Amino acid sequence: MKDIRKHGQNTKCVHGSFIPNETGCVVTPIYQTSTFSFKDVDHGARLFKGEEEGYIYTRVGNPTIQSVEQAVALLENGYKGIGCATGMAAVHLVFASLLSAGDHVISSEAVYGSTSALLKTVFPRFGVKVSFVDTSDLEAVKAAVTPETKLIYVETPANPTIVVSDIAAIADIAHENDAKFCVDNTFMSPILQRPLDLGADLVLHSMTKFLNGHADVVAGMVILKTEEDYNHFRSMSTEFGGTIDPFNSFLVARGIKTLSVRIERHCKNAQKIAEYLESHPKVEKVVFPGLKSHPQYELHKKQTDGPGALISFFLKGGLESGKIVMNSVKLHTLAVSLGGVESLIQHPASMTHACMSSEERETAGIGDGLVRISVGIEDVEELIADIDQALEKV
Ligand SMILES: *Cc1c(COP(=O)(O)O)cnc(C)c1O
Repeated sequence: MKDIRKHGQNTKCVHGSFIPNETGCVVTPIYQTSTFSFKDVDHGARLFKGEEEGYIYTRVGNPTIQSVEQAVALLENGYKGIGCATGMAAVHLVFASLLSAGDHVISSEAVYGSTSALLKTVFPRFGVKVSFVDTSDLEAVKAAVTPETKLIYVETPANPTIVVSDIAAIADIAHENDAKFCVDNTFMSPILQRPLDLGADLVLHSMTKFLNGHADVVAGMVILKTEEDYNHFRSMSTEFGGTIDPFNSFLVARGIKTLSVRIERHCKNAQKIAEYLESHPKVEKVVFPGLKSHPQYELHKKQTDGPGALISFFLKGGLESGKIVMNSVKLHTLAVSLGGVESLIQHPASMTHACMSSEERETAGIGDGLVRISVGIEDVEELIADIDQALEKV
């Protein structure tokens, strides 16, 4: 394999994480070691000065960690990646590496809950100013820009409203204003959407979700487009210390080998379930980018290679209907998270957002009848039958 970068996404999934050693191993092994010995003082000095490639200490770099970093960077067409202990460690690395006191960040208003909390409660303590805007509205993004804007941060499609933002257009707005543009690509995976190709400067993932895909790891990754940004982020990550460990790196690299086949099935199953739900009399509305009824169906189609596997739908009858469906499903598991091989179902009003009042939820676009499914790779007829018998009880 001369230059893996020239290969397709399927080949990159299978071979992208391989880092050979002298044993002839076919898979990058788990290098479960905290530190690496130097041949002599000069060798140690060369490694520290960056004059020679090699390993020093696992927080700085480790072959198993490098293996998963290489795989994801290849899939995202980035320069290099930085493995993080969790998706939130990746989000924190982005904000803490790019923002200083006095700087301003524009974020999608619909972002992952902990990301929103970081921006609302932590970074303002350090003098960072934050604007949450509907990033699907380009005029709103332009209007929010100030001379201090250093970063535009977008999730598309966003959670749990499945709102889609125009990556290429926002990249232009960011670059006209000398700001960096970061996309959280967790919901799509690089199989369906490659934000760096569309103009983003950096991409991040909660690898806990589709990249690992088996609901047995928490991990994250930041992928940089340029060597300069990478070097800055690498030194920040070394100081912050939120690095991924070798064992989790191994598991994620293993998960990635089947990413493209998993995503194919995820999308097929989700499309069928979304169409089934849309025709069901007890369902008020289905929000899924693979349905023509999605307000940004055309935009999503243009900037991705598929709809993904997250479906939000609104039940008639609100809170009570939601609870009945939750308590009646048998094959779907009641749990948060997403992107694993198993189908998960979530009802924000009775679960994740139960602490909010009904009015607060309504304002946030999380109506009481909203149910979210992360569609797995099981037999789709059985998934539909499971939802069908649950809806029957409403
Ligand atoms: C889960 C998730 C995160 C956080 O990732 P963790 O691995 O749970 O820390 C960030 N962004 C999105 C879109 C997510 O779904």
